[in-house]
Amino acid sequence: MKSYRLYILDLDGTLYRGSEPVVHAVETVRALRARGAQIRFLTNNSGETREFYVRKLSAMGYGAQPEEVYSTAIGATEYCVEQKLGSVFAVGEPGLLATLAEAGVRVPNADGRGFPSPCTESGPAVDAVVVGVCRTLTYDLIEAAMQHLLHGARFIATNTDDSYPLEGGRLQPGAGAIVAAIATCSKRQPEIVIGKPNPLMVWQIARAAGVEQSDVLCVGDRMETDILSGKNAGCDTHLVLTGVTPSAPDGQSWSPDLRGLL
Ligand SMILES: [Mg+2]
Repeated sequence: MKSYRLYILDLDGTLYRGSEPVVHAVETVRALRARGAQIRFLTNNSGETREFYVRKLSAMGYGAQPEEVYSTAIGATEYCVEQKLGSVFAVGEPGLLATLAEAGVRVPNADGRGFPSPCTESGPAVDAVVVGVCRTLTYDLIEAAMQHLLHGARFIATNTDDSYPLEGGRLQPGAGAIVAAIATCSKRQPEIVIGKPNPLMVWQIARAAGVEQSDVLCVGDRMETDILSGKNAGCDTHLVLTGVTPSAPDGQSWSPDLRGLL
């Protein structure tokens, strides 16, 4: 197929499932690099730090550099910094909390010692509630997020994926299930969903790489996130059937696995 200067590759279901690399994916990424293409790794997952993905991808043979890796923890943190949101209540995994804290965003519930009061005399106790995947979700955490939102905190979702794929075809609940719980009880909707299908991170990546949208190919296993974010960003897209999507809709560029990019 046509060569592009920049390939934005999804992770879960595209490059790996759980701890196993997807068949033919490592050799394909190597071949694209050998052609001189730039590679960026973009996951809607918010649970881990950039360093985690660098280690995981490198151990599988993808040879990832820190500046090549983007997650919605990174995207949400950049959004908080841009919007000057100095303190947030985070519903998420340690990787999200660490990414926010490293950028100087205060996370009052980061120490795990209870929840800050939702309100002070001068207004809401936090500027925003940031919600991502959280495998230690509890009723108390949902309630604390709800109280902050009812007291006027802004509402930011890392992503609204319904599930994500593991080894052997098993699925786990995604951040969308948690965002929906908090949206339901607070009667609030997120002002922004950072991840795919929002084109925000695709544009951030293309700009940082110095590549025009016409020279970017967005690749993934999910139509409603990976492919739609690429289309929304004005880029070409390519679907692989190694993850959650069993067949390609009419008119969509696709291949059974990543070798279709060569
Ligand atoms: Mg995927």
